[in-house]
Amino acid sequence: MKIVNDSTCSWINDLTSRTNIKSLESNEDSEWLIIGAGYTGLSAARKLAQLYPDQKIIIIDAQLAGEGASSRNSGYLVDTTLNDGFTSNKDLDNYKKKTEIYNLGINVVKKFINDYQVDCDWNDCGKYFASSKKEDEKTLINFSETLKKLDFEHNLLSNHELSKRLGTNFYNVALHTKGGVLLHPGKLVRAMIDVLPKNVCLYENSSLLSWGKTKDIISCEFKNGKINTKKIIFATNGFLKSLGIKSNYNFPITLTASMTRPLTENEFKAIGQPKEWGVLPVRPMGATIRMTKDKRILVRNTAEVHNPFKMSKFDLQKRSINQKIGIKKRFPQLPEDIIQSSWSGVVSRTRNSSQIFEKIDKNIFAAGCYNGSGIGVGTLFGEQIAIKASEENSKEIKIIEARNKPTWLPPQPFLNLGVKTRLIYERLRARSEI
Ligand SMILES: Cc1cc2nc3c(=O)[nH]c(=O)nc-3n(C[C@H](O)[C@H](O)[C@H](O)COP(=O)(O)OP(=O)(O)OC[C@H]3O[C@@H](n4cnc5c(N)ncnc54)[C@H](O)[C@@H]3O)c2cc1C
Repeated sequence: MKIVNDSTCSWINDLTSRTNIKSLESNEDSEWLIIGAGYTGLSAARKLAQLYPDQKIIIIDAQLAGEGASSRNSGYLVDTTLNDGFTSNKDLDNYKKKTEIYNLGINVVKKFINDYQVDCDWNDCGKYFASSKKEDEKTLINFSETLKKLDFEHNLLSNHELSKRLGTNFYNVALHTKGGVLLHPGKLVRAMIDVLPKNVCLYENSSLLSWGKTKDIISCEFKNGKINTKKIIFATNGFLKSLGIKSNYNFPITLTASMTRPLTENEFKAIGQPKEWGVLPVRPMGATIRMTKDKRILVRNTAEVHNPFKMSKFDLQKRSINQKIGIKKRFPQLPEDIIQSSWSGVVSRTRNSSQIFEKIDKNIFAAGCYNGSGIGVGTLFGEQIAIKASEENSKEIKIIEARNKPTWLPPQPFLNLGVKTRLIYERLRARSEI
């Protein structure tokens, strides 16, 4: 099936259009093939090119490189998470392992932007976990205990301080973590495309239709060509399942977001001229809200089981109305019609919110399923899966492989039924927080 994207993502539309876009139009042989050109695939390509400057590396994407979830996310490079998936973080040891991976993720993105002098609106201002419900203070106090044990600098805040910092009276309780970065996701992934070395060949608008392995060669069929490769890395995240990768361990979830136009000086004054900030919800299905560096407001408040290949204009508009309500609740003093664009994006989830990082078979590798932490963890896993595919090891791989492995999922229709029921329950619990 063809991936059909909306063309209305603000992050993508902020960038200049790319030229020199090539599609696969012939048959090719290569040492290495990477499927998917988001943070994961591009980072794998960059690392392989460093390790094998004389070998041919092909990276291929069904759409334009970087224009999947990697440009469509909310731009939180996280050090900690409160709601990542369908399980809570009760187990301290597991949570510690998770945050070690997040920390490696932040460091690898930091190194990338320093090495290549990338401007991606990096702001290490931390982030808030916030709620309008006073009763959520209990959750935040428990979370604070966990963070204390792991030495994460943070503080709890109440309504008065929050309204000064955020420019809205909506929130009553919050926990601010000092760690964590806000950035422009589109600028980051564009930089990863721009720095691809010469021995990496990027093909776009070329969807992998089928693949198979005969002896030691992996054959991949595309609409206008075929690639035979010795080694392959699947980096298609929300589309791993559709390619038969770890099918019983991951499933796609579609998210939608909207962004306003930049606020005018008067509008910005009316909300108290806050500095850039990012809020994550305390309840899993609540809204992610950001005030960007250039005074735009981003809101992401849906997550659902939906056809990952396409969302119709009509469906997107319906979700955008939800986002308009989310902005109105928080900023009643702003005009009604300030949303400039709305878009959808696809992520991949596992049952226990653990990531996929694996050798699937001889010479076949896969990395993905980061829930809300794909900026850092995707960049990290991309580089490290390239090292693993080279039959090498690293201290990072040891840390990654010490995490819990994804757990088995029931087959359809039970899977969709279970996920939908859970999402409905979470949506009801978070209806005040959209
Ligand atoms: C609305 C939204 C908000 C989010 N917010 C955050 C956030 O704040 N912080 C955070 O860390 N993460 C966030 N995420 C998640 C994050 O965006 C992803 O985890 C991350 O982009 C994954 O990167 P990736 O390279 O693995 O996958 P992707 O960027 O999805 O790249 C996979 C690529 O594979 C390609 N592909 C799929 N099928 C095929 C095929 N058959 N043939 C060829 N190519 C194929 C796709 O076209 C796509 O470009 C969010 C995601 C969304 C959608």
